[in-house]
Amino acid sequence: MKEMTTAIHAGESVDQATGALAAPIYQTATFAFESAQAKEDAVDASMNGAPDAYFYSRTSNPTNRVLEEKVAALEGAEDALACASGMGAISAVLFSQLKAGDHLVLSDNLFIITEILVNKTLRPLGIEVTPVDISDPQAIRSAIRPNTRMIFTESITNPYMRFADLSAIAEIARGARAKFVVDNTFFTPSLLKPLAFGADIVVHSATKYLSGHGDTVSGIVAGSAADMGLARIQMDALGAAAAPFNSWLVARGVRTLPLRMRQHSANGHSIAELLRDHPEVDWVRYPGLDTDAAFEVASKYLPNGCGGMLSFHMTKGKRAMETFCESLELAGVAVSLGDLHTLAYPMPKRDFMVRLSVGCEDPDDLIADVTQALDKVAAL
Ligand SMILES: *Cc1c(COP(=O)(O)O)cnc(C)c1O
Repeated sequence: MKEMTTAIHAGESVDQATGALAAPIYQTATFAFESAQAKEDAVDASMNGAPDAYFYSRTSNPTNRVLEEKVAALEGAEDALACASGMGAISAVLFSQLKAGDHLVLSDNLFIITEILVNKTLRPLGIEVTPVDISDPQAIRSAIRPNTRMIFTESITNPYMRFADLSAIAEIARGARAKFVVDNTFFTPSLLKPLAFGADIVVHSATKYLSGHGDTVSGIVAGSAADMGLARIQMDALGAAAAPFNSWLVARGVRTLPLRMRQHSANGHSIAELLRDHPEVDWVRYPGLDTDAAFEVASKYLPNGCGGMLSFHMTKGKRAMETFCESLELAGVAVSLGDLHTLAYPMPKRDFMVRLSVGCEDPDDLIADVTQALDKVAAL
């Protein structure tokens, strides 16, 4: 099956009870059994890692399962696990794979709450941590110790847009017998499949592009059935289960993921070029620009486009950041990303740079909006 077909069909089946074609929302906490033995068998199977031996929705749920099978198919993974949020997914992976005395090598630039989880929770629990520039394979190699159990990065880092050379890192991880975990939120499997380049586990904030409509918080993990079994036990213990309605919304989003990513990539590229060529902008980071530091390595991994995320900085600093963001008419000024709706995220604590999540609006309208906001900056 090709990607657009997989996005629409994977994980779906006609409901056996009613013939409903659209996946129903199984809004139930618990599941009833014909016999005491059948209940026992389901609980035992579930505790042994069966993802569809339903007995309680904190552990597994048929609506969550539709999303899990869909994302597993798109990532080329054996299995997947839906969670309450991206942080629920990241927590389930880190806690199921690491214990006191283990060493974690991770990108020195990551989504801020991932950094907080590592520094405020994992370090005090006795997990050793070495942050590295993830675009520098030599730095990663030097950080490896005998007790290194995991290398963790985002496929492109947030917000500095440093690109991880996945094959090179996978080779280092294999040599160290460490798991290679990639947060693929910014690219999605539609643009990049980290498992195909040697990663062991992929995590997503499904709140972002997988959902695509900015209307729910959700997370997902994909990888081997064994690793997903471990992650499910941890997700269950953390209480990070996905709500069935949220998974239903995300699965609906994923059906159009390849279509949306095409538009995000085309629009992202146009806006990145506009910014690069504008006198008020002193730098822009977007891996699709042939002037970008990541261009060469990214072009090996991203044949279908580079997505909608970019960061840039204007010469007038703070005043420019504020004026630009406040002048945008189509784009919202907000945290989050991956929405159909363009979002601008001003970063006063990061040298007044701006991160743009370029949406799926008509490119002419987006170009006009960004141009008029830059005109206001030029007039300062
Ligand atoms: C948003 C985000 C997360 C966290 O996901 P939530 O769904 O907000 O918990 C993790 N990683 C990246 C790259 C993100 O953008």
